Amino acid sequence: MEIRKGIAVSPGIAIARPMLIDSKDYRIPRRSILPSQRSREIVRLRKAFATALTELEQIEAAQNIEESKIRDIFAVHMRFLRDRSFRRRISDMVNNELVTAEYAVSAILREIASHFAGIDDSYISERAADIYDIEKRLLTHLLGKRQEELDHLREEVVILARDLTPTQTAGFNKSFVIGFATEKGGRTSHTAIVARSLGIPAVVALGDLSSEVSADSVVIVDGNRGVVVIDPDEETLRQYNQYARQMTQFISKLNELRDLPAETRDGIDVQLLGNIEFPNEAEMVIAKGGQGIGLYRTEFLYLYGGQEPTEEDHYNAYAEAVRSVGKRPVVIRSMDLGADKLPHSGWRPNEANPVLGLRSIRYCLQDLPLFKTQLRAILRASVLGDVRVMFPLITNLQELRQAKMILRDVMEDLDEYAVPYNAHMPVGIMIETPSSALTAGLLANESDFFSIGTNDLIQYTLAVDRANEHVSTLFSAAEPAILRLIRNVVQDAFKAGIGLSICGEVASDPEFIMLLLGMGVRTLSLAPPMIPEVKKIIRSVTIEECNELSRKVATMDSPRQIKNYLRDAATRILPETF
Ligand code: PEP
Ligand code: MG
Repeated sequence: MEIRKGIAVSPGIAIARPMLIDSKDYRIPRRSILPSQRSREIVRLRKAFATALTELEQIEAAQNIEESKIRDIFAVHMRFLRDRSFRRRISDMVNNELVTAEYAVSAILREIASHFAGIDDSYISERAADIYDIEKRLLTHLLGKRQEELDHLREEVVILARDLTPTQTAGFNKSFVIGFATEKGGRTSHTAIVARSLGIPAVVALGDLSSEVSADSVVIVDGNRGVVVIDPDEETLRQYNQYARQMTQFISKLNELRDLPAETRDGIDVQLLGNIEFPNEAEMVIAKGGQGIGLYRTEFLYLYGGQEPTEEDHYNAYAEAVRSVGKRPVVIRSMDLGADKLPHSGWRPNEANPVLGLRSIRYCLQDLPLFKTQLRAILRASVLGDVRVMFPLITNLQELRQAKMILRDVMEDLDEYAVPYNAHMPVGIMIETPSSALTAGLLANESDFFSIGTNDLIQYTLAVDRANEHVSTLFSAAEPAILRLIRNVVQDAFKAGIGLSICGEVASDPEFIMLLLGMGVRTLSLAPPMIPEVKKIIRSVTIEECNELSRKVATMDSPRQIKNYLRDAATRILPETF
C-alpha cells in the first residue's frame, strides 16, 4: 500500500483500477497481462515497430538529408528497429513474463542503453542516447493506443497522468472515468476547475505516480482529503468503501435542499449561480438548485473543437444554455483564451510569461474579427432570456471603454441588418487583478456589475502561478491582502449600487462562505456540484454570525490562523465535509 498526499481539487471518493495516460517521458510501470492477452500485445508491438520504421523512412525521404552524421543516426535507428533478435527479445518477454508491450519495450531498451552507457568507448557509450530515442518513438506509438482505449472504455477507471489539459478532462466519459490524479497542477488550474464542474473526484500535485502503479492495482482517489492510495490493504479498502457510501448518502441528503431557498436563518437571501464550461452543464446547475449561470467560460468552445467556432456555433451554444435555465440569468463571459487555456491547434503566441501576456480581453482587443463574431452571437442570444455579457481580466478603464466601444460597433452592425438584440443587456467585468480591485470605484461608474475572479486575483496579487504545484502552498485566499481587496471591491460595488458576485473557486469552498457573507457578498457563482453544500451552510447560519466572523478575521494577520478559524467554523456546521 502506498499513500500519496496531494492537493484536493474536486471532492468525492473514487475507487477503481488505474489508467495511465499522457505518458511521454514516463517510467513505464510493470503491468501484468493475462495469458489470453499475449497475442494482442504482440500485434501491438508489431504495429508499433512498423509505424516507427515508416515514420523514420518518411522523415529521411522528406528531409533529403545531406549531412552524413544525421544520415548515420537514422540508419542506426532503422537498423535497430529491423533487427530480429532485438524484436524477439521483446516479444519473448511479453510471452514469458506476461507483461504489456510497453513495459517490455521500455525494460529491454533501458537495459541495452545502460549497458552501452557503461562501455568505456565514447562512440558506443554515446549510442545510449539513440536507444532512449528509439524507446520514446516506440512508446509514443504504443501509448497512443491508450487514448483510443480511453475513448472506448467499458469499465470504471481512475485516470493517472503527469498532467491533463482542461479539454482532456472535459472529454472524459463520466460513466467510466470516475476519478483522476495528476502529478502536477494546482487547486485553481483549469483542469481542476473542469473536474469540479463535472463532479469527478480529483487530486493533483502528487509527484511521481507511475512507478507505483500496475494494471492490476487498485487506486483510491480521495478528493476530500487530497489523498491517493495505491494498492490499499483490506482494512483501508473497507474503510474507504464505507466512507464512499456515507458520502453518497450525505450528497443525496443535500440534494433534498434543491428547491429550498439559499436563505440564512435570519431571512437574508443569497443568490447561488453556477459556473459552466459547456452549455449542457446548465441543466446540472438547475438540477442542483442553482438560480442561473453566473459564469459561462465560453473559451471552451475554442478549446474543444480544434477549430475556430463560427458565429452560429457561438449562438447555438448560448441559446442552449439560455433554454436550459429559462428566465434565470446567464452571464456569458467573453473568451478568456491564453495562459493555460490554449486551443489544440492554431493560435499559440510565443511568450516567455503567458500569464502576463496576450491573454483574455487583451487578445480579444487585438483580434477584432474574432471578438466581434462572439459579441454578435451574444447579442443575438440576448433576446432569448436574461443574458448578460462580462469581460474578463479588465485591468483599467481604458480597456473597459475599448471593449464597450466594440460592443457598440457590433450593435450598430446588427441595427443595419435589423437583427434583434437587447439594447439594455447588462455589461459587467471581472475583477481579477490588483489593478482593477484597487480602482473598482472608477470601474463601477461604467459597469453594470462586477464578478470577482479570485483565482486570478490571488495569482496576480500574490505572484503565485495558480497551476504550479511547486508554489501551491502559497496560493491562498486567506491572505490578508486578498481579503482586503475583496472587501474593497464589495464596498465600491455597494456604493455605486451595481451588482456584485464572486465566481472564483473560493465561492465553492465551504470554508469561505460565512466570511464572504460577512463581507457583504450576496451572490455566489460556483461549481454546480458544490451548490447543495454551500446552500446548506447558508441555511445554517445567521448574517450576524457571519458579520461577527468577518470582523474577527479582519483582526488576524496570519493566513494559517484565518484558515484554521474558518475551517473550525465550517466544520461545526458541516462536519461531513471535513
Ligand atoms: C477566476 O480567475 O477566478 C475566474 C473565475 O476565471 P478563470 O478561473 O476562468 O480564470
Ligand atoms: Mg480568471
